[in-house]
Amino acid sequence: MSKQTIPVRTTVVGSYPFPGWLEFSSKNLNQFGPADIEEMIEDAVIAAVHDQVAAGLDVITDGEQTRLDFNLSFYGYIKGIQNNESETRKFGPAAHDQRGKNNIVGELVAPNGLGAVKEFLRLKKLAPAGPILKASVPGPYTLSGRLLPNDKYKDRYAITEALLPLVRKELEDLVAAGCTEITVDEPSMSCYAYKEDTKRFVDIFNRTVKPIVGKCNLSTHLCFGNFKGRPVGYRSIKPMLPDFLDLSVNEIHIEMANREFAEIELLKPFAEKMNVAVGIIDVKNYYIETVNDVVERINRCLKYIPAEKLSVAPDCGLSQTARWASRQKLINMVKGAKKVRGESLT
Ligand SMILES: [Zn+2]
Repeated sequence: MSKQTIPVRTTVVGSYPFPGWLEFSSKNLNQFGPADIEEMIEDAVIAAVHDQVAAGLDVITDGEQTRLDFNLSFYGYIKGIQNNESETRKFGPAAHDQRGKNNIVGELVAPNGLGAVKEFLRLKKLAPAGPILKASVPGPYTLSGRLLPNDKYKDRYAITEALLPLVRKELEDLVAAGCTEITVDEPSMSCYAYKEDTKRFVDIFNRTVKPIVGKCNLSTHLCFGNFKGRPVGYRSIKPMLPDFLDLSVNEIHIEMANREFAEIELLKPFAEKMNVAVGIIDVKNYYIETVNDVVERINRCLKYIPAEKLSVAPDCGLSQTARWASRQKLINMVKGAKKVRGESLT
């Protein structure tokens, strides 16, 4: 296992809210040329990097500012997929059924990769020296969630198996491009651990990451859903144990703040096998955690996870949290962590 050099390391999950102008522009992309879009994405990444660097984080991402819309996100890179809005609910309260599904109309292949390498290289170009640069890629089980089975790919597991080599190749390419910090997001595994075969989940995960184990600081992000700030899973860590202890990762990230730190004691067995990043910032709540709240929450984590194995982070990506709140939450999280580390708050 690679050693964590910073005690109570401050990190993020991946996504960051889009600036308003980016959201507006992404709905009018047909009016922009490719060069305009590239400039727009760079500007958005610069803004996301700025906020994270200003907060003083140890680990930053590109804020996933390139994942503008369906066509530019991961499914846009995979051939053999066709959008299916036939059952999509368009109005009413926010829920997952407002996202379209997709038919599989051919072989699932990604001849040009999944885009994460390009995102990482852009981040490397734009970020200042200092923070660790992290790339996040959804794992194949989570990625299969919006694809409908057909005669060739008969169920979600068959689709997962077809996507697995595409994700694995992207991870290998990220390492080859010099990425040293990689998260494979598998929140669908934490959401459905209560009803699915958790050994099967771990087998899928470990086969996905196999070629990059030991070649980077590898982590996974597990949460209970965050569609427009709403969870979707059975919010308990218990069903993940003991099987998830066998995940081939250096670090596991788990949502805690929105669940008011329920089952925090269950992080102890994880900390005995790997580093643990705890979600101590609630991305679904507009209450801004104070520096003292953060200190108190870190101290609760330290009862079960030693400082040299602990990272702190928001519960999930910040894409569903207004930017003004995201910014202040990150600032306070870093200040709290520095206070616990005994560093001066400059
Ligand atoms: Zn999440």
